[in-house]
Order: sequence, then C-alpha cells, then structure tokens
Amino acid sequence: MAERFFLIDCGEGTQLQLRRYKLRMGKINHIFISHLHGDHYFGLIGLISSFHLQNRKNDLHIYGPSDVEKIIQVQLDAAKTQLGFQLHFHPVDASEPQIILSERRVEVTAIPMRHSIACTGFIFREKPKDRHILPEKMKEYQVPVYDIYKIKKGEDWVSETGFTVKNEELTAPPTESLSYAFCADTAYAQRTAIFTKGVDVLYHESTFLQTEKALADKTRHSTAIQAAKVALAAQPRLLLIGHYSVRYEDDKLFEDEAKTTFENTVAVHEGMTIIASADDITIKE
Ligand SMILES: [Zn+2]
Repeated sequence: MAERFFLIDCGEGTQLQLRRYKLRMGKINHIFISHLHGDHYFGLIGLISSFHLQNRKNDLHIYGPSDVEKIIQVQLDAAKTQLGFQLHFHPVDASEPQIILSERRVEVTAIPMRHSIACTGFIFREKPKDRHILPEKMKEYQVPVYDIYKIKKGEDWVSETGFTVKNEELTAPPTESLSYAFCADTAYAQRTAIFTKGVDVLYHESTFLQTEKALADKTRHSTAIQAAKVALAAQPRLLLIGHYSVRYEDDKLFEDEAKTTFENTVAVHEGMTIIASADDITIKE
C-alpha cells in the first residue's frame, strides 16, 4: 500500500507503544477513533500534546464521534494551549457506511458496529491501480509518451493515422489493490460480513470465548467463534482477532476456537506486523 501512517484508536498506552516499536509518530496525519469508550481514545490528548511539544507543523486529521472535538477542545482550552499545527475534526456518523477519506491512492470507509454506544469500524482500500505498460508494444506502435497516461488508465490507443489498438494489447493488468477492515468493539452482526466482503485482511474483535457468550451478548462484544463466523461469510484472506478480555491468560485459546470455524485466523498481540501483498500475507513478531 502507498506509504501512509494511519492510527486506528488511541488508548492510553498508544504513545508508549509507538515509541517502543520505533514507529514514526510524526508521520501520523490521520487518526481514526472508533468510539468513546476510554480504552479507545484516552491517549489522544497525550499524543496531541506530544506533537505540540515536538513542534509539529503538519495538519492532523481526526475522524470519529462528534464529541471527540468537544472533549479535546476543552482539554486544550483548560491548559490555554495554542497548538502549532492545525487540527481538523471529521465527525463520523455511526448509523450507515460512508466514505470518510478519499485520497489519490486510498479510500477509507466507516461502517457501523453493534456496540453499547455509537461505534464504527473502518475499511481501508487501495484505489484501483494503473495498468502496466508493455514497453515492447510502445516501441512496436511508436506510441508517443504523451499518450501513455491514458493507456495506463485503460483507454485504447488511436494512432495519428487513425488505427486503433486495444488496451489489452498494450498493457498488462494492474497490481491488485489491497484492503483492510478494522471491526472495532462490536457484538456479532451479520451485516459486518456484508460490509467487509472480500477484504484481504479482516480484523474483528474477539473479547470472549464461546463459553462466555451470554456475557458477550450483554456487553455487546463478540466471541472468537462469532468473529470467525463473520470471516466465514466475508471470506477475507486472513482473519485477525484481538481485544481479549483480561480474564483469559492465553491468546492461543481464541485462535484455536476461531480456527474451528475459519482456518486462516491469527490471534494478534502487541508489536505484531502484518505484511500483505497480492501474493501472500506474512506476519512478523
Ligand atoms: Zn467499547
């Protein structure tokens, strides 16, 4: 994917972990907040304050519930802090899917989750890429350089003398565009599979094991099996599960349970890196 540094949620430990894993904090220009339970945003004011102390100049965009702006603003005002960079708040409506960010190479969609308060997941999709030019064909037909842009976009080529060459003869298909869906705190919902159908990597919360299903229902969270059921319908290449309740000591229990329903599951933990390409997905510890 085009190199972008997107931060999804910002719990109180986020800044420490960014430092610990030597991630370039200053490169984060977009932060997505799923909902206003503290474990998902209590680190936000701290991160913004650190950016300020580091003399950040780049604009920072924050996407999330409309109350995020009020909460952050009251904290900045109380401290009489005048940030040296622009903060842009983008309120996200949690009732229906909507595109919240569209750049040249990537598009982000917010999707509703089923939780105890308004909550959204986020889907990150690379936009369709250009087709690959076949240099030998350019030579063969003596295609002028200024026509290449349109050919990359898929157009047929018409020569000055008026003959047409089909695009398929001049190009190879583009590199596959990848996608990642982050499904935040949510109870099981069939619609989640509809929204995330066909993404390459799906993250779905899995707070409980199936033995605690009643508790999962009550607190509007999911079990590992339920996360896997969503994956079974959405058919990602890989399912990631996380957000485990502290009552369990071993993440592996979640992976084992989910795998009974969806084999390609990995139980994630802090510091893991997932590298996806069109051909494979690798995981680095
Ligand atoms: Zn929550």
